[in-house]
Order: sequence, then structure tokens, then C-alpha cells
Amino acid sequence: MAYCKFQADHLFTGYQLLDHSHVLVTDEGGTVVDIVTGEAGNDIQQFRGILMPGHINCHCHLELSHMRNRIPAGRGLTHFISSVMGFPKVDQAEKERSMALADKEMYENGIVATGDICNQLYSIRQKEKSNIQWYNFLELTNLDDAKAAERVVLYNNMANEFKEALPSTSNVALSPHAIYSVSPLTFSLINKNTKNKTITIHNQECADEDQLFTNGSGRFLRFYESIGRKSMPLAVSGKSSIQTWLPYFNNGQTIIMVHNTYTPEEDIIFANEYAEMNGLQLVYCLCPNANLYIEEKLPPIDLFIRHNCNIVLGTDSYGSNRQLSITSEMAAIHKHLPDIPIATLLQWATLNGAKALHWHNDLGSFEKGKKPGVVWLNKDFSEARRII
Ligand SMILES: [Zn+2]
Repeated sequence: MAYCKFQADHLFTGYQLLDHSHVLVTDEGGTVVDIVTGEAGNDIQQFRGILMPGHINCHCHLELSHMRNRIPAGRGLTHFISSVMGFPKVDQAEKERSMALADKEMYENGIVATGDICNQLYSIRQKEKSNIQWYNFLELTNLDDAKAAERVVLYNNMANEFKEALPSTSNVALSPHAIYSVSPLTFSLINKNTKNKTITIHNQECADEDQLFTNGSGRFLRFYESIGRKSMPLAVSGKSSIQTWLPYFNNGQTIIMVHNTYTPEEDIIFANEYAEMNGLQLVYCLCPNANLYIEEKLPPIDLFIRHNCNIVLGTDSYGSNRQLSITSEMAAIHKHLPDIPIATLLQWATLNGAKALHWHNDLGSFEKGKKPGVVWLNKDFSEARRII
């Protein structure tokens, strides 16, 4: 069997940063054979910078790829949602071209797997020919309990279409969009339908989300009015967003909570305790560039670290990001919080994401028998490239 050998200034295994003396050995297809030190023979490919496993993007909306540079930045979440909902009609060919470019960009800059929000079926064709592995979150929005059962049937049917079209390495699960767009019965039915699955939800992306549920105020009221709704989907609970929606879940799920830009410490403590007591795995997904684009604010990353939260990274979509690159997300965090160790950032980008999507048996780290992809990364996070 022919082997491929790789050596760099540093080798990140998924767990730790090793020095130059370590050589990664894979077979020709990229399956990890070993990491060796000392005499590794000839034909070692040399790199400056870091070699690491393929990146895992835990939050994207491939369907929104055609919105690149089309939604104004810095206007807040309710404005952003209105812009997405009111986006001018785009023909299918342009959507497909944009999705193909987004897919290519992600693959080339080192992303090997993506957790992708799907509201419709039209990303299937791109995913059929993609080199990326897709976890498809079929995202429900539904404001009326009376329509909940029918919506869940519709989305389960869509889930079956994804399953039939895509390779068995992909996955599909229903997921709620966010607390402000999902009715109580819809939450309960999603809980029933997703036993032991990884699901996702947009959480506390703006301050108005908490205001809506603590005291029934904030900009979401105007948003509901603009779409012809008189009332909110869930009643005012007197509690924060996460303290209101999380108790709908108790079915062994891994829940990737996306953004968490406005999650205060008391909510982190509540959520982690609730998860522990109810057999859930909580994952905090950071999309810093999207947060800076929409709300011009970063989530409280230092608090998530202090409370041992399980952290992963996502790009969000071209609607709210100028590139789809986990490297750029790491760069944004490193720029604002330079004290976070590099190995910690690299683990968020790889092994943690693979675990969140339940794909760590194959992806996320250099361990014998896995095929996680090999990515070269510039030390200053300015560039990354898929090697194998
Ligand atoms: Zn999103």
C-alpha cells in the first residue's frame, strides 16, 4: 500500500498541537494510519504552519447562498429576518449557481462536513454532487398550534426526500427555527420526532428575543404586525428565551444552539443544569462573523468557556457573512480574544463539531482508521486549504 506522509511546523491531532517532529501518515485515500516521530522515511510532504483535520461547519444555510452582499449589515436581527423574507424572487438557475460556488468555497478552504438549515428541497441537487458531508436540519417555522401536526408531516416527508437522495453518510433531522417562530405544539412534536438526534435552534441572537418572553415587548411585536399577526406564538413566560423553549426537550437530543449572542450567565447555568438533569447534550455554536454582521456584537465566549460549555463553530449563510470559512470564524475570535489557546480554537473547529453532529467515528481528529480530511492552516488564520 502506498502511504502519504505529512509534516508541518505543528500538527493538530483534534486534541493537541504537536511539534515539527511528528509526521502524519495516511493511506492514499486519506485514512489515518499513524502519527510517528523520528524516522519516517522518504517522500514526506512539508508545510509551514499547521496541519489539522478537516473543519466542521455546524451552522450554514446553503439555500441562502444567492443573498451574498445583498443584505445590509448592522441593522439588527428583526430587520435581517424581514430582508430575508422580502428578498426579491431569484430564478432557480441563479440559486443553483450560488450554491455550487458556496459548496466549492467551503470544500477548498477545508470544510469537510456541514450542519445545514433547510427550509425547502432545492439544495438536494447540489448536495448529491458535493464532496462535503451534510447534516440537514429541516427547519420548521409555524406560529399556529392548529397547523402543527400538518407542518410536521410535511417536513417529515421532506426529510424522507433528503434521505432517499443523499448518501447514507448524510443525516436529516427536524429542527425548530427559533422561539419567536414556533408554536408550543410544534415544539412538542419536534421533541417527539427527534429522539436521540442532533437538532438545532437559533438562540438569543438579539436582545428583543428575551424581551418578548420576559415582558412581551421589543421589536418582534412590530415584526409580527408586519406579517399580519396580532399575537406571539408562545405566551409571555416571564422568563428568558432559553428558559422558555429548552423545557420542551427531554428526548435524548444533542441540541446545537446557534448564536447565543445575548445569553447571560444565569441562562448558561440554567441550560447546563437542565440538560444534565434531562439527558440532553447542549452545544453552543458560535458564528462570530454573522453576529458582527447583523448585531455588531459577539457572544459572551469567555462565559461559555468558564462554564465548560461545549463549543463549536459555524459560518451561517452568505446572507450574513462575506465568506463561508471556519478559518475566518477562528480568525474573528482570535482577534477579539487572543488569550484563547490556539489548540482550543482548533478543537472547536474540528473534534467538537464532529461530536455535535455524531460523526466523530470518522471525522474531527487524526486517529487510526478515521478519514477526517487533512487541512493546511496558516498560523495567523489568514488562509486554509484542503490537502487531502
Ligand atoms: Zn442561521
